[in-house]
Amino acid sequence: MTAPSRESIGDLSPQDFERHATGLTAWIRTYLEHPERYPVRSRLAPGALRAGLPSAAPAQGDPLEAILADLDRVIVPGVTHWNHPGFLAYFANTASVPGILAELVTAALNQVGILWRTSPALAELEQVTTGWLRDAMGLPGDWFGMITDTASTSTLLALAAARERDPALEIRQKGMAGRTDLPRLRVYCSTQAHSSVDKAAITLGLGAENVVRIATDEAFRMRADLLESSMGADRAAGYRPLAVVATLGTTSTTSVDPIPAIAALCQREGAWLHVDAAYGGAMGLLAERRDLFAGVRAADSVVMNPHKWLFTPMDCSVLWTAHPAVLRRTFSLTPAYLQTDEQEIALSYSDYSFQLGRRFRALKLWFVMRAFGVEGLAARVRHHCALATTFASWVQAHPEWEVVAPVPMSVVCFRHRPAGMTDERALEAHNAAILERVNASGEVFLSHTKLGDRYALRVAIGNLRTTEAHLATAWRLLGEAALS
Ligand code: PLP
Repeated sequence: MTAPSRESIGDLSPQDFERHATGLTAWIRTYLEHPERYPVRSRLAPGALRAGLPSAAPAQGDPLEAILADLDRVIVPGVTHWNHPGFLAYFANTASVPGILAELVTAALNQVGILWRTSPALAELEQVTTGWLRDAMGLPGDWFGMITDTASTSTLLALAAARERDPALEIRQKGMAGRTDLPRLRVYCSTQAHSSVDKAAITLGLGAENVVRIATDEAFRMRADLLESSMGADRAAGYRPLAVVATLGTTSTTSVDPIPAIAALCQREGAWLHVDAAYGGAMGLLAERRDLFAGVRAADSVVMNPHKWLFTPMDCSVLWTAHPAVLRRTFSLTPAYLQTDEQEIALSYSDYSFQLGRRFRALKLWFVMRAFGVEGLAARVRHHCALATTFASWVQAHPEWEVVAPVPMSVVCFRHRPAGMTDERALEAHNAAILERVNASGEVFLSHTKLGDRYALRVAIGNLRTTEAHLATAWRLLGEAALS
C-alpha cells in the first residue's frame, strides 16, 4: 500500500494559514470600518440560507479561497450585525478589537480545560481575570470566580449549589424523584426576572411551578414586602424557600431589585441569594453608581456577562460565589483516568461545573481588561449611560412621546402616544407598526418589551461604535414612522 500524502491526511500548512489570515484580517478590518454598509438586521427570509447551500458536505475539500469568498456571498446576508453602531436592540454589545484578537489566539492554542494540568494557563488566568473584575466591581475580595458560556448556565450552577448547601437534603446522591421526605423547594424572583431562572428550575428538576414570581413596584423592582409574605405562606404550607434571584439590571428596563431588603429576608429564611447582574454588572465599574450595588456583598452568588456590556465577544459570563466549597461539593466527581498528583493543590474548574472540558474564555477577558483598563472600561460604560440620558431627554421633550420606565443604565423604554389614543391595544398595534417601519430601514435595529399591559419600544446602548448621531438617526426614523 502506498503511504497517503501529507496533504491528504494532515492539516493545511502554517504558510497557508498566514496567507489566508492576511486576507482575512483585511476583510475584518473593512468590516469593522464599515459595518454601516449592511442593514443591521438580516433581511434573509427564514430557510433562505439553507436553501442556497448543498444538502451534503463536499466529498473533497474546497479550497480556502472558495470558502472565504462565500463569507460575503452566503454568510453575511444572514448576519444580524451586532457590531453595527445602529444595533440598539435587546442588550447591545460589542466584539471589541482586543476580544477579536484573543479569539484568534484561543482557537490557535485550542486549550481544553479539563484539569489544571491540561491547561495551567487557562485555570490560573480564569482565577486572575475573574478576580480582577470582582475587585473592579467592588465585590468581596475572597469570592471565587469562574467563567461560563452564558448567564443561563451561571444561574443554573448557582441554583444547583443553593440546593446542595443543605447536605441533609441528599439530592446529589438520591435525586428528587419519588422522595416523600423532601419539602417543595421554592425559588423566588420578580415578574421582571429573566426566563433563565425558570429554565434553571426546570433543568434542575425543581419544577417550573416552584418558581414564585413576585410582583414589582411602579419602577419594576421586586416588592420585598410581597417576597416576605410569599416566603411566609410557603413556610406555613411546609415548603422550603431555597433561593431568591434578585436582578440588578432587568432585561426589559434595567431596574434594580431592593437587594438589601431581599438579602435580609434570605438571611432570615436561610435562602441562597443569587444576584443576576448579567447586564447591570458593568455599572459596578462606576464608582459614582455603586449605590446600585447596595446589599450585593451579602449575596451568595452573582453573575455578570462581559459578553453583554464589557466589550467581550460572545460568549463570556462570570459567576462568583462566596461558597466555592458548596459549588465544588455539588459538582466534583473525578473518574480514575482524571486523577492527578496535583489535584489537592491545583484548581481544576471541572470540579465546579457539570462540564468537563472548557474553552479558554479567560484569554479574551484578559485582553479586553488589559487593552482598555478598568478606567477605560468605566469611561465607556459611563458614556453609554450619558447617551441613553440624551435619548430619553429627546423623548421626554416631545409631547407625543413618553418614557415609560426610569433609565438607571443605558436602556430607554418609551412609546409613541398620539393625542386621543388611550386604548392599550391600539397603542400596542401603533407602536409595533412603528418598530417594523424603523427596523425595515436597515439603519438601526430596536426591540420591544411588554411592561404589564403596556407595549414599549426599547433603545439599548452598548456598542462601542454607537454615537449620538446614530441615536439621532433612530429618533428621526421613529418620528417619520409615527407619522406614516
Ligand atoms: N439575565 C438577564 C438579566 C438577561 O437580560 C439575560 C439576557 O438578556 C440573561 C440573564 C440570559 O443571558 P445569557 O444569554 O447569557 O444566558
